[in-house]
Amino acid sequence: AAALERVDDNLLKAANAKYQWHPMVHPKRLEQDPPLIIARGRGAVVEDLDGKSYVDGVAGLWCVNVGHGRKEVIDAIQAQLAQIAYFSPFDGTTTPPSILLSQKLIEMTQPEDMARVLFSNGGSDAVETAMKLSRQYWRLKGQPQRVKFISLMNAYHGTHIGGVSMNGIPSFRANYEPLLPNCYQVECPWIYRNPWTNDPKELARICADALAREIEFQGPDTVAAFFAEPIQGAGGVIVPPETYWPLVREVCDRYGVLLVADEVVTGFGRSGAMFGSRGWGVKPDIMCLAKGLSSGYVPLGATLFNKRVVSAWDDDATFTGAIMHGYTYTGHAVACAAALACLEIVEREDLPGRAAAMGARLLDGLKPLEQSSAVVGNVRGKGLMIAIDLVADKETREPIDPGEGLAYRLADAARAHGAIVRPVGTKLILSPPLVISEEQVDVIANALKEAFRVAV
Ligand code: PLP
Repeated sequence: AAALERVDDNLLKAANAKYQWHPMVHPKRLEQDPPLIIARGRGAVVEDLDGKSYVDGVAGLWCVNVGHGRKEVIDAIQAQLAQIAYFSPFDGTTTPPSILLSQKLIEMTQPEDMARVLFSNGGSDAVETAMKLSRQYWRLKGQPQRVKFISLMNAYHGTHIGGVSMNGIPSFRANYEPLLPNCYQVECPWIYRNPWTNDPKELARICADALAREIEFQGPDTVAAFFAEPIQGAGGVIVPPETYWPLVREVCDRYGVLLVADEVVTGFGRSGAMFGSRGWGVKPDIMCLAKGLSSGYVPLGATLFNKRVVSAWDDDATFTGAIMHGYTYTGHAVACAAALACLEIVEREDLPGRAAAMGARLLDGLKPLEQSSAVVGNVRGKGLMIAIDLVADKETREPIDPGEGLAYRLADAARAHGAIVRPVGTKLILSPPLVISEEQVDVIANALKEAFRVAV
């Protein structure tokens, strides 16, 4: 802290562009357009280097669910640091927080029949773990030819080569082609933008049938798993029809394919249910968790496996199924201690319920933009996952040209009115901490109303 206090803010800003490469931006853009540097945070409010404060409409990257600066999380981290920061997780050695957190996660997911946890460092790792262990599951089950993965268009499954290969957003894929073979995308159920229907039930049926057809086409005995987000986040908060996930479960069961829920964003309350798949009344075989698990205080990912998957290892009498996967920081003691404190808050403060209530309020506040603004085609969301879809033409629903930078101008204008929102191509995305207050929700809604007035 002393070293940080001595640094001149302008030097810090210049050094940011000079020494660091940042995700998801061209390095040269930082020189032209210096980004926000956040120095402090409390609850749902963050403060920049210059001391200006904003309502955090994004919770970092959908992750600071319990809010910034929570004393009990900080205390838990400090207490664990004073015991031991780290010990090797390989070969079964570990530390008490990772044991306690694994027990807590399995207890929390009893409705989903989860039985084992394998920890990692974040969402991309949690996805990679799910891909590799679902392959290993099929080897143990005597079906090593099940090597294919199916996912959805508009899906985001992180940035490792495995996850990018399943990703359904072309811009994340293009610079890194060729990607893994054996990964295939099918249509996602997007009610606002699909070529078929406005009827949610019909759309759910069409898209579930598309999955079934792809499995048939690939050969059911070659497909390892279907991966999907319960609500697609980075793809633009695409909330599927109520009946989609139950249909998908049926399709996976019909062909024996594992159903993997990428709950990296939806886990721990963000969509208004403790888990997104629980919100749809569906039990996946594997769940990928990160973000809200430790609310970003210390990086952490977890992949959970249900009794069906775990039985392959339980029944492996020959001990051929050693898990040759894992990270130096799997089950990191400090991260797990932070997560235990975060999950205690999630449950005690009923953050899923809070996300549902505050999400409904924010959606109500923003919906009128569909009428009042010429460029707002659709405002949608569930819980505290909300997107504003920007269009060039409301009739045809043609998206704006992202190259013209409207989403960025709107985000800048909202920030000038006290709220941070996230521009993503042709959309604005909102995902504030789940502890946000009613007044803070209204600050975001009003800042956006002003932004559309001045920036369009
Ligand atoms: N899966 C989903 C659904 C995500 O939204 C993300 C990140 O936004 C990831 C995986 C990757 O997580 P991470 O960035 O922690 O690696």
